[in-house]
Amino acid sequence: LYVPGPLAAGGEIALSEAQSHYIATVMRAAEGDALRVFDGASGEWRAAVSKLSRKAVTLTLIEQTRPQAPEPDAWLCFALLKRAKTDMVVEKATELGVSVIQPIITARTNADHVNLDRLRAIAIEAAEQCERLAVPEIRAPLPVGRLMAQWPEDRPLFIADERRTAGLLGPVTGKSALMVGPEGGFTEAELEAIGRIPQVTRVSLGARILRAETAAIAGLTLQLAAQS
Ligand code: SAM
Repeated sequence: LYVPGPLAAGGEIALSEAQSHYIATVMRAAEGDALRVFDGASGEWRAAVSKLSRKAVTLTLIEQTRPQAPEPDAWLCFALLKRAKTDMVVEKATELGVSVIQPIITARTNADHVNLDRLRAIAIEAAEQCERLAVPEIRAPLPVGRLMAQWPEDRPLFIADERRTAGLLGPVTGKSALMVGPEGGFTEAELEAIGRIPQVTRVSLGARILRAETAAIAGLTLQLAAQS
């Protein structure tokens, strides 16, 4: 379970109402039962259920079971999709190890609303499920032009371009970012403006035109394969 830190031996953690419901009612835990928790910064800890009611569960931390592992410093910037596809991209990107998820608005983006709390909850659940000890930061959507105007000098950006003219994206180490366009693709003007920034390289994800959500998953797999 993801819990707010900092974590220290002997410390008590009051779970949220939703987590308490999950532990008490869904998992049918009893006082004394052990489970594992993480806070994204202090590794993984073994904890015991010390107080239990349906709406309020308290854990006592026993010992650290895994140190905080080094994580890839990889961002995913993707043109906002409809709700179910956005949810899927956030879930899969979390499993694949990204550190930051930055939704972008482009000329052909069809969605303009996003519930960040919901996306953060999806990322937490995905991190718990895949036993990752960190949860990616989910940022508020930004127009792609505004994002590029403030792009960090030291972060290479790979922009996925479906027109088969670029080289295949390969494994990357160190700081990186992948950018994937909307269902209708980037406009020529957007590609041209993004490409003016020296940190940017256009990349292919293979011979076929992938759905935007497939492109995000395939791109992250190619890019992060060497960093586990
Ligand atoms: N119309 C489909 C859809 O509804 O999802 C295809 C969308 S494709 C144009 C969306 C984005 O995926 C593109 O802007 C590009 O960033 C990425 N993409 C898809 N296939 C790709 C490929 N073979 N190589 C590189 N990028 C690709």
